[in-house]
Amino acid sequence: MTHRTTGTAVELTAAAACTCAAVAVAAAPAGAVPLLVVAAIAIAPPALLGVVAGRRRRPWAAAGGSLIAAANVLFYGSWVSGGAPPQTPLVHVGYVLGYAALVRSAALSARVGRRGTTLDATIVVSGPALVVLSALARPLLAQEPSLATATSLLYLCLDLALLLLVVRAAIGGSTARLPAAAVVLATVLLLGGNLAYLLNMVWLPPSLVPWLAVPFAVAYSLLAAGCALVPREASATAGTSSRETAARSWRTAHQTSAGASRTMLVLLPTAACLPAAALVVQGATGHAADWLVLGCGAVFTAVLSTVRLHAALRVAADQALRLEQLAHRDELTGLPNRRRCSAAADALLARGSDPAALAVLDLDGFKAVNDTLGHDAGDALLREASAAWRRVLPPTAGLYRWGGEEFVVLLADADVARAEDLLDDVRRAVPRPRTVSAGLVHRRPGEDFHALLGRADDLLYAAKAAGRDRVRSDTGAPDAPASGPASGPAALPGLAAGRALA
Ligand code: GH3
Ligand code: MG
Ligand code: MG
Repeated sequence: MTHRTTGTAVELTAAAACTCAAVAVAAAPAGAVPLLVVAAIAIAPPALLGVVAGRRRRPWAAAGGSLIAAANVLFYGSWVSGGAPPQTPLVHVGYVLGYAALVRSAALSARVGRRGTTLDATIVVSGPALVVLSALARPLLAQEPSLATATSLLYLCLDLALLLLVVRAAIGGSTARLPAAAVVLATVLLLGGNLAYLLNMVWLPPSLVPWLAVPFAVAYSLLAAGCALVPREASATAGTSSRETAARSWRTAHQTSAGASRTMLVLLPTAACLPAAALVVQGATGHAADWLVLGCGAVFTAVLSTVRLHAALRVAADQALRLEQLAHRDELTGLPNRRRCSAAADALLARGSDPAALAVLDLDGFKAVNDTLGHDAGDALLREASAAWRRVLPPTAGLYRWGGEEFVVLLADADVARAEDLLDDVRRAVPRPRTVSAGLVHRRPGEDFHALLGRADDLLYAAKAAGRDRVRSDTGAPDAPASGPASGPAALPGLAAGRALA
């Protein structure tokens, strides 16, 4: 076992021991455990967190643990010397500052990159938060201002901030790993512990009072264990806004966003409706309706939900556009594909009376280019040829990749002579020494796309048979003159031509 893993094992064992000791003290009969032992067991977990976080270079977590441990030392020190639990304001200041440092640490380590995650988390938390605010904060605000009231309010704000961070991390999918799971569990315990203290002010069975310290002790032990489980290298970068970390969490968020979305569909509207629902319940049960907090809260969550809806609609529109592009565009050449060609041809032929022409193009000896120069050279030829054709064809002409090295040209409003001229331009535009053959047909009355394509295909094969590098038209016009040495079967781009190009 290396020095490092031994250190981690010691830290984890200490965390487990702290947890067991805290539970044992709570379970022991009243007065059975000396106060000094109780004090040591209360101080140990946050002190351990301070040490482990310090060793992992997590300054905020280290400060949080140390401050809370120091506040506990002050609290129990005064208790032991004074004989009764003290009411020292400094203790509360220590707890609040320590808690704030822990929240800050959680904010840095739970950073998620997906846009909208914070908004989602805010909606999920703000609904219940407003109800809590109405139920707990309003009575506190109504009291005489005091340090106790101020710290209680601060605790409440920090609780909500912590809840927001955990919900955001859960939505962003960054809670899956073991250290993160320990931190989430610790957060739940801290929030539960704070809630138990609030309840203790109102109602809590006396048998449960000794257990009040347990959630905190276990939470600090878990936070220490979470820190110990994070590899040193990872913790050294924790808290820095490295682009890599953001990119990683963005990826995680995206991987899990599909799964999380169904839960979010339930969570978001439920949380958003809570303030309004609480207002209705108050009204219906005859309680004084807290219209100011809950009414404003209902407006607030409605505005947040509208912003969220707007963002979701924009994402949906972007995705629809992307899907449309993927479905209708050929990736290699950037040309519209076969699916788009069929739709455009059907639309063109449906117009009926206008002259319309269709040509099927097929690069000559393309397989030889692949075989001699490689598939990449074949791809490059497809891209270059299609770009050259796009340049010579008018914007109104449709050029589509039908499949492989076959393309379709659709010409609307092109009479016979114009169509034949354009196709000859297309033939000449192929990067030499490569050549192309084509079959050109003009729409006949009542003919559909399928029939037109069949005739063009027959003429294409006739052009191939006649020696390639030519256009065969259904007007029976003579083949376009083949150009120089690239024409005829003997000049098919084979080994020699391929090497010459290379
Ligand atoms: P012809 O002159 O009679 O048209 O012969 P050809 O070699 O051009 O035609 P053939 O049908 O024998 O070969 C077409 C080749 O095109 C076969 C296939 O592997 C290749 N091919 C199809 N799609 C692609 C592609 O996207 N990229 C590359 N590089 N090759 C492709
Ligand atoms: Mg072919
Ligand atoms: Mg071919």
